[in-house]
Amino acid sequence: MNLILMGLPGAGKGTQAEKIVEKYEIPHISTGDMFRSAIKEGTELGKKAKSYMDDGALVPDEVTIGIVKERLSKPDCEKGFLLDGFPRTVAQAEALESLLEDLNTKLNYVLHVNVPEEKLVERLTGRRICPECGATYHVEFNPPKEEGICDHDGAKLIQREDDQPETVKNRLNVNSEQMKPLLDFYDDKGYLVEVNGDQDIDVVFQQIDDKIGGLA
Ligand code: ADP
Ligand code: ADP
Repeated sequence: MNLILMGLPGAGKGTQAEKIVEKYEIPHISTGDMFRSAIKEGTELGKKAKSYMDDGALVPDEVTIGIVKERLSKPDCEKGFLLDGFPRTVAQAEALESLLEDLNTKLNYVLHVNVPEEKLVERLTGRRICPECGATYHVEFNPPKEEGICDHDGAKLIQREDDQPETVKNRLNVNSEQMKPLLDFYDDKGYLVEVNGDQDIDVVFQQIDDKIGGLA
C-alpha cells in the first residue's frame, strides 16, 4: 500500500494520516514533521530548513528529496508507506517516480484532500499540536478532552510558529501555485483520487478508507 496524501496546508492531511496509519500499520512519512524534529534537535538539516519554514516558503527540492530518499529506503517501508506533504513540486514528484522505480515498487493512490481555500485560514490559525507525539487538534473543530492538553500523553499543546496569520497567507499562496501542475501530473498517470475534505473528520476518513480498503 503506497499512498500519498496531498492537499493545501490545513486540508487535514496530518489528521487523516494519523487514522490511516493506525488502521493499516504503514509508516507515516511527513516531511513537515521531519523538518520540525530536525529543528528541535538542532541538526544541520534543521538549520537548513528553518529560515524557509519561518517564511512559509518551501525548503529547496534537493534538501527535501534527499531526506525522503533516505527514509523510503528503510526496511519498514517495504510493506508500504503514507507520504504526507511530499511531493509538493513537480520536480519532487519526478524524483519520487525514479526513486520508487529503483526500489522496484510504485504508487497505488494519490489522495487529494480538497477544501475550499477560504476555510483553510481558520483551520490553520486554530490548529494546536502536541510537541511530544505530534498529534493534531483544533481549538474549535477537534478539541482535546482537556483544554490545551494532549489526550495521548498529557503534554501541553503548542501553536506552530508558521500557523500565525501572516505566515499562513504566504504558505497558502506558495502551495496553491505549486499544487495545480502536481495534480495534473498524477491525474495523467491515473493515480489521482479526489477526496472531499470539507466534511467531518470521520466522514472524510470513511471516504478514504472505502477507497484504500481494497489494497489491504
Ligand atoms: P494539514 O496536515 O493538511 O496541514 P491538519 O491535519 O493539521 O492539516 O489539519 C489542520 C487543522 O484543521 C487542525 O487543527 C485539524 O484539527 C483541523 N481539521 C482537520 N480536518 C478537519 C475537518 N475535516 N474539519 C474541521 N477541522 C479539521
Ligand atoms: P502543513 O501541515 O501545514 O501542510 P507541513 O507540516 O507539511 O505543513 O510543512 C510545513 C513546512 O515545511 C512547509 O511550509 C515547508 O516550509 C516545509 N515543507 C514540508 N514539506 C515540504 C516539501 N515537500 N517541500 C518543500 N518544503 C516542505
